[in-house]
Amino acid sequence: MAHSIVTQASVTVPVANDSSLRRSIFKDKPWVSVLSSDLKINNPRSTSEYKLCMSVKQVTPSKVAVSPLQLEGAKEPPLNIYKPKEPHTATIVSVERIVGPKAPGETCHIVIDHGGNVPYWEGQSYGVIPPGENPKKPGTPHNVRLYSIASSRYGDSFDGKTTSLCVRRAVYYDPETGKEDPSKAGVCSNFLCNSKPGDKIRITGPSGKIMLLPEDDPNATHIMIATGTGVAPYRGYLRRMFMESIPNFKFGGLAWLFLGVANTDSLLYDDEFRMYLQDYPDHFRYDLALSREQKNKRGGKMYVQDKIEEYSDEIFKLLDKGAHIYFCGLKGMMPGIQETLKRVAEERGEIWEEKLPQLKKNKQWHVEVY
Ligand code: FAD
Repeated sequence: MAHSIVTQASVTVPVANDSSLRRSIFKDKPWVSVLSSDLKINNPRSTSEYKLCMSVKQVTPSKVAVSPLQLEGAKEPPLNIYKPKEPHTATIVSVERIVGPKAPGETCHIVIDHGGNVPYWEGQSYGVIPPGENPKKPGTPHNVRLYSIASSRYGDSFDGKTTSLCVRRAVYYDPETGKEDPSKAGVCSNFLCNSKPGDKIRITGPSGKIMLLPEDDPNATHIMIATGTGVAPYRGYLRRMFMESIPNFKFGGLAWLFLGVANTDSLLYDDEFRMYLQDYPDHFRYDLALSREQKNKRGGKMYVQDKIEEYSDEIFKLLDKGAHIYFCGLKGMMPGIQETLKRVAEERGEIWEEKLPQLKKNKQWHVEVY
C-alpha cells in the first residue's frame, strides 16, 4: 500500500470503512450493502458509535497487477474470433447468486475460463450457444444469446484467462394463474444459472463496439446508466479505472454510475462500487434508484430516469463539456429516460431533437439495450 499523506486529526470513522476489512468480511455476501449511505454516511447515530480520535493515514489504495500486458497492445478491439458455426468450448469456473433473498428474480455472476483464447475489451459481449436443439429448426443448435461482459479484459482473476457474465434467469409467469411455468423458462439464462464448475459452454465473439470505453482522454467524464444486469459493462470499466494497475491508462476523470433495481437486495456488485466510492471519492459517484423502496419527487416509484432528473443540471453541464453517457439494460428503460432528457432540455431552453444528434455525432452517446 502506498501512503500519501499522514495527518493527526479527530475524525469520525465508520469501522467498516477499511476496505480490506470489508473485502474479507463481505466477500461471501456480495449483496450486502456494507457502507449504505443511509446507514453509515448520513446517519449521525450510526457514525457516532465509531467516533475516534486517532492518527489518520490517508491512503492511496494500491492497485492489482494484471497480465498479460499484451492485451493492451492492439489498436483495435478483438471482434468475432469465434462465430456461431465454430464456437469456442470454454469451462465454467463458478456460478454465484449475487442478489439477496428479497430480490425479485435471480441474478448470477458466472465466471468462464476461456484459457486466454477469447480475448475481449471492456464493454463487449460474448455469445452463448445453449446445449440442445433449436425447437424452431429441429436438428440445428439453439440460436446464440448475447451477454454483456461484466469483467475487465483481465477477468476476475487478473490473468486474462476468464470472462464474467451477469445473468438474470428468465422465468415465465402464466398471466392468468400468476404461476411460474417452467416449460417456458428462458433456455440460455437457465442453462447458465444452473451450470456447475467444470461444465462446458460454447461461446462466440467477442462482439460489439458501441459500449467500448473511450480511453483517448484519461480525464474524461463517463456517465453510466444501468437497469439491472445492464450494470455489467460498467463493472468492467470500473475495475479497469479503479482496481487494476494499467500502465497506459491512469484514470483521472469522473465515473458516475446510476443504477436502477427493485430493492436493496437486488443491488449488483454494490460492495465493489462502494469500495471505489471510499477510495476514489473525487473520481467516482454512485447513485441508486430503488423502485420498490424509494419515492420520486412526485411521490411515485423511483426509477433511474427520476435519479437522472434529480441531477439533470449537472449532467447537462457535463455533457456540454464532452462527457460520455452510456445506457445499458432492458429496452424498456429508454423511452422514460428519453422523455425525461427531452423535458429537462426544454426546461433549460434547449431543443432535445437538436442536442441528441449532436451528442451522437460527437460519439458521446452509447446505448446497448435488449
Ligand atoms: P429464451 O429461451 O430466448 O426466451 C426468451 C423469453 O421468452 C424468456 O423470458 C422466456 O421465459 C420466454 N418464453 C419462453 N417460451 C415462451 C412461450 N412459449 N411463451 C411465452 N414466453 C416464452 N441478459 C442478461 O441476463 N445479462 C446480460 O448482460 C445481457 N446482455 C445482453 C446484451 C445484448 C447485446 C443483448 C442483445 C442481450 C443481452 N441479454 C442479457 C439478454 C440475453 O441475450 C437473453 O435474451 C436472455 O438471457 C434470455 O434468453 P433465454 O435463452 O434465457 O430466453
